[in-house]
Amino acid sequence: MEQTLILLKPDALQRGLVGSILSRFENKGLKIVGLKMFHMAKEKSKEHYSHLVDKPFYHDLEKFMTHHPVIAMVIEGKEAVEVVRLIVGPTNASKAPAGSIRGDFSNSTSRNVIHASDSKETAKNEITRFFKPEELFSYAFKNEDYLKASDE
Ligand code: UDP
Ligand code: MG
Repeated sequence: MEQTLILLKPDALQRGLVGSILSRFENKGLKIVGLKMFHMAKEKSKEHYSHLVDKPFYHDLEKFMTHHPVIAMVIEGKEAVEVVRLIVGPTNASKAPAGSIRGDFSNSTSRNVIHASDSKETAKNEITRFFKPEELFSYAFKNEDYLKASDE
C-alpha cells in the first residue's frame, strides 16, 4: 500500500482548518498512519525545500514554515501520492479547482495551507525526513473487511 507525506502549514493551524482538511482524506478512504505537531528546524526546511533555496521567496517560505508549528501526517492508501495531490490541488491556489483543498481554502501561492509529496520517490524521502519507523502505525479493522473495495 502506498504512503505519502502531508504537512499542514502554519496558515492552516492559524485559521482553524485542521479538522476540515483532515476529513477530506478520511472521507476519500485514505488512512492516517502517522501524525504529529512540531516546529520545523531551519536545516529541515532547507532540506525539504532544497529545490527552492535559491529562489527570491525562499527566505519568506523558511520564516513562515519554521516560526510557527506545523502538523505532519503520513497518509496511506491506493495510489496515495497521486490521489492526495489531486485532493490538494496545484501550488498556485488561485488556479486550483474548486473542490480541491487549495482551491477551497486559499487564493495564494505562498500561503496555500498544505504540502503533499509530488512523487513516489519524494514521498519515501519526505516520510523518512519527518518520521521515525516507530512513529508509523499499521492497523486494520477486521470486522469491516466487507467494506474493502475489490480492486484494492
Ligand atoms: N512557493 C512560494 N512562491 C512560489 C512558489 C512556491 O511561496 O512562487 C512556496 C509555496 O508555499 C509552495 C512551496 O513553496 O507550496 C513549495 O513549492 P513547490 O513548487 O514544491 O509546490 P508544491 O509542491 O507545494 O505544490
Ligand atoms: Mg513540492
